Order: sequence, then C-alpha cells, then structure tokens
Amino acid sequence: MDIRKLVKPNIRSLRAYHAEEIPCKVKLDANESPYSAISNQRSAISLEKNLQTLNRYPDPQAKALKNLIAKDLRIKSGNILHGNGSDELIYYMITTFGGPVMYPVPTFSMYGIISQALGEKKIEIPLDNKFDLDVEKILKGIEKYKPKLIFLSSPNNPTGNCFSSDKILRIIKATSFSKQRRGERPFAPTLSLVVVDEAYQPFTGKSEFLPLLGKYRNLVIMRTLSKIGLAGLRLGFLIANEEIINEVNKVRLPFNVNSLSQAVAIEALINKKQLRTYITSIISERKRLFREMEKIDGITPYPSDANFILFRAANAVRVYKCLLEKGVLIRDMTGVIENCLRVTVGTPGENTVFLKALKQLI
Ligand code: PMP
Repeated sequence: MDIRKLVKPNIRSLRAYHAEEIPCKVKLDANESPYSAISNQRSAISLEKNLQTLNRYPDPQAKALKNLIAKDLRIKSGNILHGNGSDELIYYMITTFGGPVMYPVPTFSMYGIISQALGEKKIEIPLDNKFDLDVEKILKGIEKYKPKLIFLSSPNNPTGNCFSSDKILRIIKATSFSKQRRGERPFAPTLSLVVVDEAYQPFTGKSEFLPLLGKYRNLVIMRTLSKIGLAGLRLGFLIANEEIINEVNKVRLPFNVNSLSQAVAIEALINKKQLRTYITSIISERKRLFREMEKIDGITPYPSDANFILFRAANAVRVYKCLLEKGVLIRDMTGVIENCLRVTVGTPGENTVFLKALKQLI
C-alpha cells in the first residue's frame, strides 16, 4: 500500500524544512548565538526548583514570563502571545486568519512552508535589486489578491538587511483599518495583518514598530529568544492588539511552552547586562567579519543588520564544500540566491577560523 496516497495533496508536494545535523568543528549555519545566554549557577537553581514539579503541567498562560517581557517593552501582557519558537506563532497566525499569505522573496522559508501545509495560497513578491521591498508591486499585489496576512522579516533572512521603514509603513497604512463605529464601513478597502518579524531586531539597535502598535491595529510584531542565546528553549512572542492576540490564542495548544523553558527564560531575561554584552560582541564581530570579507578577492559580502552575513562567491557550492572539509559549516543559499552563501557571526575565535579558511580557499 502506498501511504503517500493517503496524504493530502498539498502536503505530498511539500518539502520539509532543511534542518540537518552536519558534523563540524565550527558551526556557523543556523543564525544561532555562539553564547548560551544563561549562567550555569542561576539556571541550575531555577531548574532544580522546577524539576521537583515536573509532574504538573506548565503555566498555560506563561504569566510570569509574559509579565517580565511586558514590563521590559512597556506594553501590557495582554498584548503578548507566547509560542514554542516563533515558528509555532507563524503556524498559529496562518491557522487563525488563513490566506492568501503574502511575503517578499527571498525570505524566511517557513512562511511558505506553513502556508502550503495549511493549504493556503502563497503570494510571493520578489525583492528589488537592493534586497529592499518592491513596494509598488506589493501594493498592486495587495489590491489584486487581498492577502489576509503579509509577513515582512526585517532584518530579512537570508539577505540580512532591514527593509526601508517608510516602505513597511506604507504597506501597514495601505492595509490598516481604523476603529469601526457601528454601521460604518471599514476605512481601508483591503484589510490585511502585517506581521513584522523582528527575529533579528536585537542586532539592529532599532525598535521602530513597537511604538506604532497603538496606532495601527493591523500591525503584529514577532520576536524570538532564539537569536540571543536561547534557541534550545524554543520561545517566541507575538506582540499585537489584544483583539488579535485573543483570536490567535484560540488555536494555541494549551501547554505549548514547557515549564523548564519558561523558568530558564525568566532567569536569562532578568540578567539583561549579560544579554547586552553578548549582543554587543556579535555586532562588533559582524563589522569585523564584513570588513575582512570585503578584502578577499572574489567575495562580495552584503551589509547586514542581523547576526549573519550573506555573501556572493564565484563557485559558491565549491566554497561551501571546501569550508566544510576544513570543519567550518555555513549555509548554502545557492538554491535561493545565485552563488550566495550565508555565514552566522560566531565568537571572535570561530570567525577567525572561518576567515582564515576562506582566505586559504580563494
Ligand atoms: N523568523 C525568522 C526571520 C527566522 O530567521 C527564524 C529562524 N531561523 C524564525 C523566525 C524562527 O525562529 P524560532 O527559533 O523562534 O522559531
């Protein structure tokens, strides 16, 4: 019997997210932080306490964790929804609102994979030649396809740049709706939710969209702890108006974030100074990597606001394979952007190993 015949057609043609474990000495492929954001002593005390109550389900509302984040961001905890990584929140958004789902390409692949898994139509709009949003095409697409959801990863993965804020704002305004009075038609002809995925926001030093939440009710911001040293915990957050949060909360699995993750995240977030130190080091290493890569003949790095750098190399697949032979794992992006590879910023030592290997190769 061919089991595949039982599988829904949209799943049959789907390709699983590429997340292979490839053995290596220097791991610079997954945009993780090279530093674990938790000190051993603090996490041990917190874990010990929580291990004794593992017979109980976790707090379904993650109240303590959300309160801490709300205080930090100066918002209400009712404006936050917690997810098992932001991947899960993308799933929940598309489950709740459905499609069409619009996003620029190339971008984070999960927007497309989850849309397809849920049988929703995908509208992909190519970025312009500076990897910025082609806002005219997007606005036309909005008019034509009336997407329910628009995902904008800014900084964008894998290109590394922030999209122009004024372009993002134009898209938010074009699809926003003002508070409706009874009997009144919505203000804008197309209502879409614009999800600004700020997974890499800590490396930009900017937080422009958070203050706009009160003004634009169709704005949703997504953040994660994965890029700041806690990828193993699997914790992401949606930040939006309460009415959006309440709708998405209906599809959230009741105990989606386990108790150990909740407890350890609280410990890590309390120690803000430590988090800041790691982020500062990654930003300064990003600058060094960029400068050094620029000097290598045949390598063109693209400016980045994130914790990784996209670069072009003649014979990119060979460069990728040769680096791996030397124990340095980066990400092959040639299937997405011609001749491009992506390297995550590591510790100063790891970055030096990468640079040395790259120079030797070229
Ligand atoms: N958004 C973007 C733009 C990403 O690059 C990633 C991780 N690669 C995610 C979301 C998912 O992050 P999380 O680990 O929180 O699921």
